[in-house]
Order: sequence, then structure tokens, then C-alpha cells
Amino acid sequence: MTISIGAHVDQTDPLAEAAARHTTVVQFFLGDPQGYKGPEVAYAGGADGLRADAEAAGVDLYVHAPYIINVATLNNRIRIPSRKLLQQHMDAAAQIGAKGLIVHGGHVNKSDDPEKGFDNWRKAIEATDLKIPLLIENTAGGDNAMARHLDRIEGVWRAIRAADGFEQVGFCLDTCHAWAGGIPLKEAVERVHEITGRIDLVHANDSRDAFDSGADRHANFGAGQVDPDELVAVVRDAGAPVVCETPGGAAEHEADFAWLRERL
Ligand SMILES: [Zn+2]
Repeated sequence: MTISIGAHVDQTDPLAEAAARHTTVVQFFLGDPQGYKGPEVAYAGGADGLRADAEAAGVDLYVHAPYIINVATLNNRIRIPSRKLLQQHMDAAAQIGAKGLIVHGGHVNKSDDPEKGFDNWRKAIEATDLKIPLLIENTAGGDNAMARHLDRIEGVWRAIRAADGFEQVGFCLDTCHAWAGGIPLKEAVERVHEITGRIDLVHANDSRDAFDSGADRHANFGAGQVDPDELVAVVRDAGAPVVCETPGGAAEHEADFAWLRERL
């Protein structure tokens, strides 16, 4: 089985970044990952140029939505702009021909009922025109996160299953987040498959921090605390394209790709 392995790269020229890493899979942000300003395409040829050039180069593009998006929260002043930002990024990602838009599961506040967060996810799916797959990613931290623990991921899926547009919702499994969030990697792929029926993308990352620490600090393969065999098994069993969100540039990423390939 050949698994595509790529990396999260700078958004200015993702195709040059792909070429520098000898890969055909790249993920990047469109604009500021921490701001509400809305997506921007930094590529010199613009959105349509990026789409055409990526197609010609045979490179698969994935867009990571801003971290600040939280469609689950009960706080209107965050949820409403989050939905707007999600649609804007969906539109922009579709325009560049991306294979998927990755968004974090979000969270509700400490005293809030998680069921309300699940239902907010349902409303967000129904309110968003999903032009390409929306991949919900598990997160590492938080007490009341929507996609840190398996029971919460199950709650989100229970809520969104009946939503209009559900067939365009997929899952992005991050190995650092699973480890640091407290999901045993040995059972992660099987359990996620039971819940969601699909894993569309793997974020392959080692973790600087301990199991269930709740900390989100990625490390290069072999430099963190994740058991190498378990990390490799997740990649192998998921059978989905892989994006390494590990530290460094092209050289470090190519070393991570090689580390993974040797063990697959
Ligand atoms: Zn990730």
C-alpha cells in the first residue's frame, strides 16, 4: 500500500514547498490562522492560478481552517463569527481545488452541557454550504472539548449524522492530539472508524508531552514521547493521506517522511 505523505507548509507558494519536499501532498493556511479577518490566497497566481498549477503538478492541497473557529461554543459572539469564517474558508478552499478543509472540533465552556455543543455542530453543518469535504480534527486539550475524547467525538457524530450535508463531513486524526489528549493510539483507528466510519486524513506528529497531558506541542518523529511503533501503526491502519505538522522546514520534513516510510 502506498500512502501519500506530505507536510503542513507556508502558504505563499505551496507548490514550491511541495517540490522542495518531493511530495504531492501539502496543507497550509489561507491567511491568518489566529484571526477573524477571512481567507486570503497568498499565491502569486491567485486562487484560480493555484488550482490550475496544483492540478498540473499533481499536488493535492489541503487547507487548515483558523484555530479560532469554534462552532460548538454556546457563546454567540464566538459561534456566529466562527460559522461565517468557516463558510469563507470553505468557499476559498473549494476555489483552489482543495481536497479537504480541516477544522478543529472546538469546545464548550467548563460549566456548559456538551450536548448543546454537539447540537451546535449539527446546526453548523446544516448552515454551511460544504463544497468540499470538511474534516473535523481531534484536539489535544481542554476540559470540555468536542473532539478530544472518543465519547465526545461520538456525541458530535450522533448529532451531525442526520444533518443536511453530513456526507461531506469527514475526520482528520492527529496522532499528537490523540496521544496528548488521552486516546490510546493502539485503539484509535479502530474506535474512530466505529464512530465516524471514515478517516480522511492523518496528521502525523510526535508529541513533546506525555500521554493525556492535554498539551499540544508537536515533535519530529522519534524526538517525542509517542511510541514509534504505535505512531506508525496508526498511519498504516488509517490508510489515508498523511500530513506531517512537525517542526522545521523541507529538510526536517523529508527526514520525517523517510522515518515513516522506513517503518511502514
Ligand atoms: Zn493537526
